[in-house]
Amino acid sequence: MTRPIVAEISRSALVHNLRVAQAHAPRSRIMAAVKANAYGHDVQLCAPVLAAAGVDAFAVASLEEAETIHALHLGKPVCLLGGPFAAEEVPVATDRGYWLVIHEDRQLLWLESQAAQRSLQIFIKVDTGMHRLGFVPERLPEILAKLQSYPHWQVLGLMSHLARADHPEDPFNLQQIEVFEQVLQAFSGLTVGQHSLANSGAVLALPKAHHYWVRPGLMLYGLSPFADRNGVDIGLQPVLSWRSEIVATRQLQAGEWLGYGATWQAPAACRVGVVAAGYGDGYPRQLGTDTIITVADQKTRALARVSMDMLFVDLTHISADIGSVVHLMGAGGPALESMAASLDTIPYEMSCRIQMRVPRRLGP
Ligand SMILES: *Cc1c(COP(=O)(O)O)cnc(C)c1O
Repeated sequence: MTRPIVAEISRSALVHNLRVAQAHAPRSRIMAAVKANAYGHDVQLCAPVLAAAGVDAFAVASLEEAETIHALHLGKPVCLLGGPFAAEEVPVATDRGYWLVIHEDRQLLWLESQAAQRSLQIFIKVDTGMHRLGFVPERLPEILAKLQSYPHWQVLGLMSHLARADHPEDPFNLQQIEVFEQVLQAFSGLTVGQHSLANSGAVLALPKAHHYWVRPGLMLYGLSPFADRNGVDIGLQPVLSWRSEIVATRQLQAGEWLGYGATWQAPAACRVGVVAAGYGDGYPRQLGTDTIITVADQKTRALARVSMDMLFVDLTHISADIGSVVHLMGAGGPALESMAASLDTIPYEMSCRIQMRVPRRLGP
């Protein structure tokens, strides 16, 4: 690969962030959310680092994602957060021993028809108020009774998800935590007791939600779930460093136009660098002129429109040339959280949108 663009994944930052999660939830086990290719960070690079550093299990969103982890032979349980999506998935999932989160009646039917005699480990998803997935608490006696009637099946615990953990002060969190606790009290003894409620926001700020398994995702990548703070403000280290290089430079005279649409006109003589990164790599096209970019460790700004494979930076007041390193976002450059905020989105989406044509590489 010779196009100079890369997203470097920091091994030490990943391990550091895992330690932060462990320190916040010292009595809980860590189920690392590595769905969506580890939030765009490359699960094949991240999962082995996390496994070696002591993560207790992995959580994914699909059978395909589980198979990717299985192929890495990390020796850690893999949990399908949405359970099976079709009856055909059940035999594969049971062969592999994946943990299944069951949230819907048809999944029970698939299990009964495909795995009545197979050993299964199951979480029951309970809807505590988010109203996305899960059985309403009133249905739990019936669901539990059905699951208990299959001697090969083991209910590890109950699982739920918080709707407002990114705003930990919101009383809605306490409501959900309370509903979860009531449900646990009613059914303690009927499960193995490995209950789970907390994602990153709750790991960091809602200790009452921790229970047996915490399920951090975003924070492991060094990103903050809280809109008013970046990861570094809460003791995390950004894992991803998205870089490229200057591949051409231009001297413009006052009044000359730059790039597609000729939308930017040089107000005075200036020097422009062309960077090998564009919206085809996932660099948002909305981030044109005035977006902060770091070139050769100096802060400067993007100019004009972002193209598919290239973008422009202002080199007028900095010392940089062809081959200079450009930090587009993440470690060494502008924080991914700030870039997300300026686009009115969240770091989750920002990191997921870095395209696969940007090679990920494990670094120190
Ligand atoms: C993605 C996901 C998580 C992880 O959430 P973060 O906010 O990234 O920590 C936890 N639980 C469920 C059910 C999820 O889908």
